[in-house]
Amino acid sequence: MSILITGGAGYIGSHTCVELLKANYDIVVYDNYSNSQPESLARVKELAGKDFPIYEGDIRDTKRLAEVFNVEKIDAVIHFAGLKAVGESCVKPLEYYDNNIGGTVKLLQIMRNAGCKRIVFSSSATVYGSENEVPFNENMKVGGTTNPYGTTKLYIETILKDLYSSDNTWSISILRYFNPIGAHESGRIGENPNGIPNNLMPFIAQVAVGKRPVLSVFGNDYETKDGTGVRDYIHVVDLADGHVKAVTRLLTKTGLDIYNLGTGIGYSVLDIVKTFEKVNNIEIPIQIAPRRAGDIAVCYADAQKAKVELGWTAQRNLDDMCRDTWNWQKNNPDGY
Ligand code: NAD
Ligand code: UDP
Repeated sequence: MSILITGGAGYIGSHTCVELLKANYDIVVYDNYSNSQPESLARVKELAGKDFPIYEGDIRDTKRLAEVFNVEKIDAVIHFAGLKAVGESCVKPLEYYDNNIGGTVKLLQIMRNAGCKRIVFSSSATVYGSENEVPFNENMKVGGTTNPYGTTKLYIETILKDLYSSDNTWSISILRYFNPIGAHESGRIGENPNGIPNNLMPFIAQVAVGKRPVLSVFGNDYETKDGTGVRDYIHVVDLADGHVKAVTRLLTKTGLDIYNLGTGIGYSVLDIVKTFEKVNNIEIPIQIAPRRAGDIAVCYADAQKAKVELGWTAQRNLDDMCRDTWNWQKNNPDGY
């Protein structure tokens, strides 16, 4: 069985490639390297001890993408390709709508034309908005996203639902990720943000390695145990394993299913800082800063559905996430 991985050179994509190869799937990667480097895929090959075809291309380039479906026999697609910086999406909404939504529509058209109707899509817990009560479950109403990035996820989910309503021979798995952090335990692949990291864990890692002097904690007056924001952090290799389980299920059934991929446990910003310090024996200086616009206080998953239907639960704990993040960062202080 051969799986096309759009955005396979990126953070989650590269880890998923390793786990798919370990599970004996054949893979084909398609990426325009707008937020990644070919080196990540060279390291995937090294870790898995296997080779696979790589196509440099944009998902909006229909000619190029159609060529891949002509040359390769693709049984299913795992669709990671997209832009993901929340702040940037507020400054460049059209680029986000074009790349994420426009690109996905083109991909789906080409898949349909090629007769390949199985797709796993990278969605996000951001679609739960700010009105639902934790833990978030898949039956809750979605909406109320606070930035164009989140809105692209919401619209793509709607597009996939409309597509399935029009043609129930599709197999669609929408995965709502909570907060992926960590890296492969080898320290060979990991998250490699451009510029100043937006997300908590990459920022902590850069403070630890001496690239940034201090972590700003965005708000300490939330209604949480220590006043800082609470999130459901999930090890990226557990997330990758969730994709292997989801695509395996897709290959045997049609339908549209939505799964939360999270641990079901919420940790505060200060929990993360303290655990990183303890596990890695490094001090992380912090300063309290104002709340960040658009943030909610608490976000964690009800992860039961993935457990029951996919047989998937996260295996790695917060110590593992902090240890593996640091192992990657210290061995690759400047990324790839
Ligand atoms: P990433 O930026 O590391 O990976 C995305 C990959 O897609 C990159 O390699 C990039 O070069 C490629 N890409 C972007 N636009 C493309 C295009 N038009 N054509 C071809 N390739 C393109 O991001 P990631 O963290 O690995 O995220 C993967 C997916 O998961 C994204 O869709 C993201 O929105 C989603 N997601 C990520 C998180 C997170 O915290 N990392 C959370 C929820 C959802
Ligand atoms: N956060 C922080 N300082 C940072 C980055 C993030 O205090 O430099 C907080 C943020 O306010 C939130 C949590 O860390 O409570 C997780 O933020 P992240 O951007 O990693 O993920 P998301 O907002 O997508 O859940």
